[in-house]
Amino acid sequence: MSVASCDIFISGGGIAGLVAALGFAHSGFSTVLADPGPLPEPSDQSDLRSTAYLQPGRALLDEIGVWPDLAVAATPLETLRVIDSAGDPPAIRTERAFRSDDLGAVAFGWNLPNALTRQVLAERATTTDGLTLKFGTGFSNLLSRDGEARITLGDGTRIAARLAIAADGRASPLREAAGIDVEITRYGQKALAFAVTHEVPHNAVSTELYLSGGAFVLVPLPDHRGQPASAVVWMNDGPEALRLHALDDDAFARAATLRSCNVLGPLSLSSPRQVWPVVTQKAKALTARRVALVAEAAHVLPPIGAQGLNTSLMDIRLLLDLARKAPDSLGTRPYLDRYAKAREADIRARARIIDLYNRLCRSDAPPAQALRSLGLRTVHDIAPLRQRVMQAGLGRARKAPSSV
Ligand SMILES: Cc1cc2nc3c(=O)[nH]c(=O)nc-3n(C[C@H](O)[C@H](O)[C@H](O)COP(=O)(O)OP(=O)(O)OC[C@H]3O[C@@H](n4cnc5c(N)ncnc54)[C@H](O)[C@@H]3O)c2cc1C
Repeated sequence: MSVASCDIFISGGGIAGLVAALGFAHSGFSTVLADPGPLPEPSDQSDLRSTAYLQPGRALLDEIGVWPDLAVAATPLETLRVIDSAGDPPAIRTERAFRSDDLGAVAFGWNLPNALTRQVLAERATTTDGLTLKFGTGFSNLLSRDGEARITLGDGTRIAARLAIAADGRASPLREAAGIDVEITRYGQKALAFAVTHEVPHNAVSTELYLSGGAFVLVPLPDHRGQPASAVVWMNDGPEALRLHALDDDAFARAATLRSCNVLGPLSLSSPRQVWPVVTQKAKALTARRVALVAEAAHVLPPIGAQGLNTSLMDIRLLLDLARKAPDSLGTRPYLDRYAKAREADIRARARIIDLYNRLCRSDAPPAQALRSLGLRTVHDIAPLRQRVMQAGLGRARKAPSSV
């Protein structure tokens, strides 16, 4: 069988893989993307999560031309309300609001359902010059040489690429074929993801409630059938999450309302529920010969502070910037080293902070609970500290290293 040549091969057609494919194709690099799943369609409900895109992520979506189609369904997050709660039933102990206009920003981020985002990206990808989509067949084998990566797909197609990008999720087959191991921290927690409607309007406020067991986060969505709606991520110790997951819809909605301290009134389920394991997972290297890892292939973070996919978009941003600055260097060792050096430090720092935050927030030890409330008051009430933490949370993009 003949070998097709291209600049970039991307394994994985999730949100990260599609954004990378559009970014490289728009920059004039011939790109092939493969995914064993079907081309995403409007009816696809396999991912019920929503993602709050921070400013740098939104800028990348704008640059690849999909933001106008997404903006109509994007809900701005203008205020972040953080609540520390305790007891059974949970009651509010400390509450503070962080406003984006405190930093002169119109919003902290924009929340979008994952299924819609992936569908809009895929639609755009099917009509983009220089981009070949191969849904229905995935990456199968890798042979790396100094000058190129040779890839074989499940259907036998052979591809030679200057750079192979692993965007094929937390169990990344391309990462494994490149011989890169991962380190995993397990917390014994699971996250329930679902959508709700409620009586009280959210007014573009995203609410995070903390209690032993983990965070309960309500992120604004557009109205659902004329009713205010929010996406929920509810973290719990594993057995408790499974017990809740097994409840019937009414009992589950009552439990969720209780856990939300009734901040938006009674919650009604408006979607099925999904359970996600909560882990921190980091690849032991971000590159191998002619291979770069991005997104969950490189790092999985607990779903706190909207960092997961936003961190992934920073990986893609940097790979793109480096390639545009020195197109001939694409996939070479200096190119890959620049990428790894710049991203490793950022990923490590984010993983460390989120890990610490998760441990502190879920603990039922009285000193940890006291620290949680005190920490919230301190961070909020001291203006310079508040602004620094908010800046960091907004995920200001780093510049690409100047040369390759
Ligand atoms: C409950 C929850 C809430 C979250 N909320 C946020 C948030 O608000 N903000 C945020 O930034 N992040 C958030 N995250 C994180 C974010 O959802 C993930 O980082 C993101 O969805 C992962 O995208 P991905 O493209 O890396 O992986 P995936 O979406 O897993 O995509 C991987 C793709 O690879 C494909 N694949 C598998 N095998 C192969 C193969 N052999 N060849 C080719 N392709 C293959 C799969 O079919 C899939 O399409 C959240 C996570 C959770 C669990």
